[in-house]
Amino acid sequence: MAPPGRKKEKVLILGASFAGLYAAKFLHDEACKVGLELPEITLIDRKNYVLFTAFLPEILSNQVSPYTIMPSVRHVLGNRQVDFRQEEIQNVDLEQRLVRTDRGVHRADRLVLALGAVTNYFGREDFARYGFPYKTMADAIRLRDHVLSCLERANISNDQAERRRLLTFVQAGAGCCGMEVMTELRELVHRVAGRFYRNIDAARDARFVLVEGMERVLPTLEPEVSLAAEEKLRKRGIAIRTRTLVTGAGPGWVELNHEEQIESETLIWVAGIKANPLVAALPAGHDRLGRVVVDEYFRVPEYEGVYAIGDCAACPDGQGGTLAATAQVAVQQGPALARNLVAEWLGRSPKPFRFRYRGDLVSIGSLDAVCCPFGWNVFGLSGWLLFKYVYFSKLPTVQSKVRILGDWLANFLTGPSIAMLEAVRTDASGLAVPSEERLIGIV
Ligand SMILES: Cc1cc2nc3c(=O)[nH]c(=O)nc-3n(C[C@H](O)[C@H](O)[C@H](O)COP(=O)(O)OP(=O)(O)OC[C@H]3O[C@@H](n4cnc5c(N)ncnc54)[C@H](O)[C@@H]3O)c2cc1C
Repeated sequence: MAPPGRKKEKVLILGASFAGLYAAKFLHDEACKVGLELPEITLIDRKNYVLFTAFLPEILSNQVSPYTIMPSVRHVLGNRQVDFRQEEIQNVDLEQRLVRTDRGVHRADRLVLALGAVTNYFGREDFARYGFPYKTMADAIRLRDHVLSCLERANISNDQAERRRLLTFVQAGAGCCGMEVMTELRELVHRVAGRFYRNIDAARDARFVLVEGMERVLPTLEPEVSLAAEEKLRKRGIAIRTRTLVTGAGPGWVELNHEEQIESETLIWVAGIKANPLVAALPAGHDRLGRVVVDEYFRVPEYEGVYAIGDCAACPDGQGGTLAATAQVAVQQGPALARNLVAEWLGRSPKPFRFRYRGDLVSIGSLDAVCCPFGWNVFGLSGWLLFKYVYFSKLPTVQSKVRILGDWLANFLTGPSIAMLEAVRTDASGLAVPSEERLIGIV
């Protein structure tokens, strides 16, 4: 029931991923729980699924297949009274709380920005052109297809220089996501070379180079975790180049520190993200990544009734800094904002957001992981099982959970598939053409 005199508010949430989708879901549930008349909740996203990114690196090694980790928004929402619309957001007027999309115009009493982040190429066209990002399902499939195409070509090539170039994989970025991408890539190459590509011996021919600008891999984690991870990767033949920058890229080559050129057709670019350009262009306060500066209640200070959460928000961490752009943060912010809106409608005070850090879990392939849950270090097989269990339990639908068990079992028993999904477009010289386009009709 609505408190006397309160009009039914229209809440418009932009972005239906970890931050926006969880905000919509919890807003509905919280309002029902306290017996409030439901606000009109509209959720808009260009895609109709939520990408479960923790398992995205496993697309490379084919441990999971695409559908498994992209449950649809409608499925996650179930019977909740949330009006989901698949639309492309084109323009946001913060003053009027008015949003223009490819389908029309939406007005809101409360406007929530949850539009996430995009790959950061630091303004370099060569990195954008020759680098393979790893942020979306399209990116994952494109990189996997490209790697398989390199294996196909190397398998039939008699030119030693070409073979070496095709089988050298360079990656910029050794953060949590980067470590997982590189180790799953190595897993793929080692499991399929020899078996399907008889002329390739992965241990002899393939070269993996992990480049990191900071002094250690996993720079945001404790040094002993980085050290353990580094040692494990080195033992598997991955060359680690810390305090090193990728300074240039071109067709068939990658330059390091302005002085060294590596012949390679694969530069994986997981060196950073920045706020969604639509958000970065809004007339509000921004941090250096273009994220909208909010207070501890997620309010955009200059505008009444406007909030930002998730990767597109620079939210105070309570210690003078801002929170990292992770799903762990986003899934706590959505519900916290929902609780605050309901509290406000009930005439109560909203609560400042306090992030509860639960640790990091990083899978590094070969039944191995480096995890630090609640300050403990769990490495090796137990870490890997912990990684699998925790993220399995967080998959948002039963359908995804059932599918993933099937995928894991199939991969374990029969190995990865080498079928390509034909997401790679090549130019006249056979090089993959980078594109930002979204994948349509995969699998
Ligand atoms: C490979 C990988 C692995 C990761 N692993 C982890 C992990 O293990 N743990 C962890 O905590 N974090 C992890 N992350 C980070 C995590 O995925 C992000 O922090 C999280 O997705 C942020 O959620 P969000 O809702 O803020 O933004 P996003 O997930 O980026 O969602 C933004 C949404 O806005 C939509 N959108 C954007 N622009 C428009 C537009 N113009 N019109 C319509 N819709 C639009 C997008 O389609 C998208 O659905 C990983 C990220 C990657 C890439």
